[in-house]
Amino acid sequence: MNRRVLFVHAHPDDESSKGAATAARYVDEGAEVVLVTCTDGDAGDVLNPQAAPIAPDAMRATRARELAAAVAAIGFTRTHALGYVDSGYHEDPSEVAEGTFSRIELDAPSRQLAAILRRERPHVVVTYPENGGYPHPDHIMNHLVTMRGLELAEDPGADLGDGPSAGHAAALSPWRVPKVYATSTFPLERLEALHTAMLEAHGQSPYTEWLESRADKVPAEVPDARVRCGEHFSRRDAALLAHVSQIDPDGFWFGVPRDLEREHYPYEAYTVLRSDVLVQPVEDDLFAGLNVAAIDRGQDPATAPTARGA
Ligand SMILES: [Zn+2]
Repeated sequence: MNRRVLFVHAHPDDESSKGAATAARYVDEGAEVVLVTCTDGDAGDVLNPQAAPIAPDAMRATRARELAAAVAAIGFTRTHALGYVDSGYHEDPSEVAEGTFSRIELDAPSRQLAAILRRERPHVVVTYPENGGYPHPDHIMNHLVTMRGLELAEDPGADLGDGPSAGHAAALSPWRVPKVYATSTFPLERLEALHTAMLEAHGQSPYTEWLESRADKVPAEVPDARVRCGEHFSRRDAALLAHVSQIDPDGFWFGVPRDLEREHYPYEAYTVLRSDVLVQPVEDDLFAGLNVAAIDRGQDPATAPTARGA
């Protein structure tokens, strides 16, 4: 009886910077770990000063190649690409081009995702928080598309174009995902733990300015889940480095030595967006409280004999 988790990410490289070690851990535990990537990353600039320049017309193919290498490093069971056009990051939102992912109607990508959810039938979905977690319009859209896709996937009245006219023998039956999380990539507790450890060990920290700028703006909320995955940080690093055009090996993502990170914050953090079962923070497992065998038989998600002590 396989546990199934599906991650929805905005761009190629987000799967490596958010939840990658968690995904690798679940792969190693035998779960089915599925990736959905919404855009093609075509608007990305070369962000790694050590990478060779890339002609604009080669960016899409480059991002796809890098994504494939990162997927192999993490070990995702299956991947789906929705294929939308990257909106790019713009300080001025009015500069976002028409037709890009964040400027299209919610309906089409939500239906695409809903059809994937009905096919994959995940017990857990991971997406971004309502504000995107980072003010990129595609990340905010990623959240909106996920939440609408979840509604459509479970709505028996929703025609997702997956019926006979689409070449399938029958429409896929509705599927309700019992637990939905948002990634919390840099919760204040992580920043502070690594900042303090860096000051003690090295007398300097890459997070000093960031902490000063956000300390009074961000509530020191405790995540709902901390998934222990320090042993899988090396897989996350390999995946990050596969995105040669985007990730500087001497840059932001590698500012804290991994041994120090493993010692002081060997987790990836999440907040619950929706759950059909009681959440008892701080969870250490995104499947906590779910009886996946019962769910797959169409029963109540929480009727776990072990959870009831039977
Ligand atoms: Zn992104």
